[in-house]
Amino acid sequence: MTSAISAIIDGKIIPTAAGAPIPVIDPASEETIVEIAEAEPALVDRAVASARRAFETGPWRRMDVESRQAVLRACADAIDGATDELAALECANTGIPIGQVRDRQVARSAYNFRFFADYIGQATAELYEQDPNYLTFVRREPVGVAALISPWNAPIALGSMKIASAIAFGNSCVIKPAEQAPLGVNLLVELLQKAGVPAGVVNLLNGRGATTGDQLVRHDDVDLVSFTGGTATGRAIMAAAGAGLKPATMELGGKSANIIFDTADFDQALDAALLSIFTTNGQQCLAGSRILVQRGIAGRFVEAFIARTKALRIGHPLEAGTEIGPLASRRHLDHVLGFVPVTERPGVHILTGGRRAPGFERGNYIEPTVVAVDSIDDRICQEEIFGPFAAVTVFDTAEEAYALANGTRFGLVSYVWSQDIATVMEAQDRLSSGIVWCNTPMMRELRAPFGGYRDSGVGAEGGRAGEAFYTRQKAVSIPRRPLTLRKLGMQQGA
Ligand code: NAD
Repeated sequence: MTSAISAIIDGKIIPTAAGAPIPVIDPASEETIVEIAEAEPALVDRAVASARRAFETGPWRRMDVESRQAVLRACADAIDGATDELAALECANTGIPIGQVRDRQVARSAYNFRFFADYIGQATAELYEQDPNYLTFVRREPVGVAALISPWNAPIALGSMKIASAIAFGNSCVIKPAEQAPLGVNLLVELLQKAGVPAGVVNLLNGRGATTGDQLVRHDDVDLVSFTGGTATGRAIMAAAGAGLKPATMELGGKSANIIFDTADFDQALDAALLSIFTTNGQQCLAGSRILVQRGIAGRFVEAFIARTKALRIGHPLEAGTEIGPLASRRHLDHVLGFVPVTERPGVHILTGGRRAPGFERGNYIEPTVVAVDSIDDRICQEEIFGPFAAVTVFDTAEEAYALANGTRFGLVSYVWSQDIATVMEAQDRLSSGIVWCNTPMMRELRAPFGGYRDSGVGAEGGRAGEAFYTRQKAVSIPRRPLTLRKLGMQQGA
């Protein structure tokens, strides 16, 4: 199955549409897997109308919580049941090694639905009764129709998070996956229909950002916008959402520092540094792309890091042993290679990699790259490269490490490695990012908010953060007993 569909609207698959063709390319062979037709404006209108109808008159938001939980759990089971098919599609379309897709991203997609099923079963509400004459309670109601815009780097893991959190609280939605890698999300949304999500609750549109995506965000009948993608795109989408006074969350880019103190557990820090930058071919917002290592262990650490980087298995993403697959597109490969210094410049030295991987006639393969950079001001340390490309900088003092770590416009994740608890506690306090991972690589606790500071985003995803975004509060006041009201217009002598 290719899952080459233009849209899913009101529970029905629309296999082809009249819009512009969009080739979906296999990054390993650079061949076109399939062409999908962009959802033209009339289809965007239909998708939003379907979501609106489902929200206003459909059963979903009125369903008792246990029934809604049962559907969300059926969605998780359907994803689990289609693991192989989902993993194969996602892998073929993104170039992410199959093991990582199957064990992490498909599993996470199913978990997202189970998590929100559990979450809504534990909902609590606010009640105020300080005024003895009144009860005031605060209800959380679904907001309406959510536009969900997702990127190409982890399509089903990120798309499922958005869909699960939007619908768990009773909203309906329209998702537009990235045009480069829509196939996994297409199948995911098909699976949700079969799992019993009522028609119109989850709609899908395929198309490019500037056309389909922009129309969706600006649509009058869209109530809120959830976006994951690049910072420049996030700015444009937030402006468009703002014009319509639509609440929006922005999960944007990162340039995360991985600080390794002399007091770190050397082996764990080394393993984790490799995982943090090279998982998902380095195409992760949360990648530990700036390795800051303290001088006392820097020589030994960098030497070991380079040796392990050189030993990474580059290969076809469908091969079981592959650790680094091709980058998602030729355009993105060129973007990443554009950061390799063509001639050495002062303070910048290529330690390994920096070219297309030899031995591959086709495909967007790149050698995992490590570059030593002395100055934080270099563009290698300031711009998001989004590939298997690590910058290493040596520091002496903790103060210097914090200045380096906090010295970009981004603020998504910081990683800290030290066996000294005081060092860790001071670091988590001083680091200016939405997430700090101490002595661990990526650790996603779904109950906690995931969101960035500054250019890394606005708002967050997760349990309570999702609830806050996907519901609106209604304060209801009721007197406990008949009130004695002032009687206007009944003054004596009137
Ligand atoms: P992108 O910004 O190019 O595109 C993301 C999505 O936005 C796509 O679906 C695209 O079609 C759509 N889009 C583009 N312009 C639009 C517009 N004007 N209106 C509406 N939709 C529009 O991002 P990308 O290259 O697909 O993804 C990579 C980026 O995503 C990286 O910067 C990465 O850091 C970021 N990301 C962030 C997180 C996070 O949680 N913070 C997670 C994953 C990826």
